Formats: sequence, structure tokens, C-alpha cells
Amino acid sequence: MQERVSIVTGASRGIGRAIAVELGRGGGRVVVNCVGRIEEARETARLIEQEGGRAIVEQADVRIASDAERLVESALAAFGRLDVVVNNAGITRDTLLLRMKDEEWDAVLDTNLKGAFHLIRAAARPMMKQRSGRIINITSVVGIVGNVGQANYVSAKAGLIGLTKAAARELAPRNITVNAVAPGFIETDMTAELGEEWVAKMKEQIPLGHVGQPVHVAKAVAFLASPDAAYITGQVLNVDGGMAM
Ligand code: NAP
Repeated sequence: MQERVSIVTGASRGIGRAIAVELGRGGGRVVVNCVGRIEEARETARLIEQEGGRAIVEQADVRIASDAERLVESALAAFGRLDVVVNNAGITRDTLLLRMKDEEWDAVLDTNLKGAFHLIRAAARPMMKQRSGRIINITSVVGIVGNVGQANYVSAKAGLIGLTKAAARELAPRNITVNAVAPGFIETDMTAELGEEWVAKMKEQIPLGHVGQPVHVAKAVAFLASPDAAYITGQVLNVDGGMAM
């Protein structure tokens, strides 16, 4: 299990970096993906090796099917198998529905939803051959409860929950589990854009009274990737301080 091979998309920073480090700990092999920030991705790889794992860095745009296929090929070429895929890459283009441009809708749906589809399709083949695999999709609490100014993002994240359940049913006969993790408000570059006033407002909605850290999400992903979660599939695990109960 220690030598299990994982791909983590969007692992150059934030939640993806924390997940990649967690999956690499103590001997895990990790393909660290980014779309542009290659130096940050190299830093993630360095952190993984510091924790006893092995890592390669792969720049790839999950919106492009052939890039997703290349990620899977890289994992197989470097480490000989593929055990875990974490669809974490994501972006926001927030604005009110009436002002939302088609490009803002498409960019978010293509990255957050179609990107995950591309990688699941590419990874399913080797996982089916192995008759084992774990796919974990990073959705969001807003995909469950909705949010103002995020029609594109909410639709993508709700769609990702549907994709999780459809893929879980389709791949279960081959011993591949597919689950989602739904973070609430986590301190990363994505939420740093929101400003102090907004953060204070968000905190009021969190029963545990404080924002989450990337490591909180990473621990949940590590559980779903572990042998302890062998009988769990098609589920959404909220990591949100109680926001969506
Ligand atoms: P972040 O700090 O903004 O990092 C986003 C990551 O996605 C970066 O590594 C970025 O790569 C990568 N990325 C963006 N577009 C990509 C593409 N087309 N192909 C491949 N990689 C791409 O975001 P975060 O806050 O850690 O969020 C990670 C995930 O958690 C996202 O799916 C997000 O929706 C979800 N989430 C976050 C929160 C939160 O509160 N932060 C809450 C709920 C859900 P580069 O560095 O190369 O640009």
C-alpha cells in the first residue's frame, strides 16, 4: 500500500498540494499536476520526497482530453501502475447570474467537471485491468447547498457529485471505488481573493467557528484512498466544519 501510485490534479498549491503530500507520505508515488505554476509543483514534489515518497511533476491542462491521457501514461511509465486518482483541479469565475458571460460558464464547467470526466475516462482502463482503483473527486459544499454569484461553479460541483455516483455504479464491478469530498471554506489562494469582510461573514455560518485548512481535506482524501475505505463508494464526505449539516 505504501508504494501505491496516485495522480493529483492541481497539486501545485492549496488543497491539491496537501493531498499530494499526504498520499506521498511514507513511500507513496505521486504524479503532481499543475497547469502553469511549474515551480510551485516542483516544491510540492520536494515536500513529498521530504516525507519519504517519490514524485514526478507533469504540466497538463485537464480541460484537454489528450493532456489527461498523458497524465495517466506518465504514471504508468514512471511507476508501472495507477491506484488513486484525485480530481482536485478547479477554478472560480464568480459573478451574478445575469452578468455571467458564456466564457465564464464554459471555463468553470470545462475545468471543474469536464476535466474530471477526462481523467476518470483515461484512468478507468488501467484500473479495470488491475481490478482495483480509487477515484476521489473534490466537489464543494456549495454544490450541495448552492451559492449566490457562483452559478457556474455550483453547477460544476453539483455535476461532479452526479458524475461520482454514475462512475461509482459503473466501475464497482471492477473493484474501483469513486467518492467525493466536499470542502467548506478552506484557507487557500482561491478563498484569499474574497476579502476580510466576506471571510467574517462565512465564519458565522461555520458551526465549528473557524475556517478549514488544506490538511483537513487531505486527511479525508487519504482515508478514502486507504484500505479502511474499501467498502465505501458513491459517497460525498463533507469536510466543512458543519456548514452543510
Ligand atoms: P487553488 O489554490 O486556486 O489551486 C487550484 C489548483 O488547480 C492549482 O494547482 C492550479 O494549477 C490547478 N488548475 C487550475 N486549472 C487547471 C487546469 N485546467 N488543469 C490542471 N490544473 C489546473 O485552489 P484550492 O482552493 O486549493 O482548491 C482545490 C479544489 O478544491 C478545487 O477543485 C476547488 O474548487 C475545491 N474547493 C476549494 C474550497 C476552498 O475553500 N478553497 C472549497 C471547496 C472546494 P496552477 O497552480 O498551475 O495554476
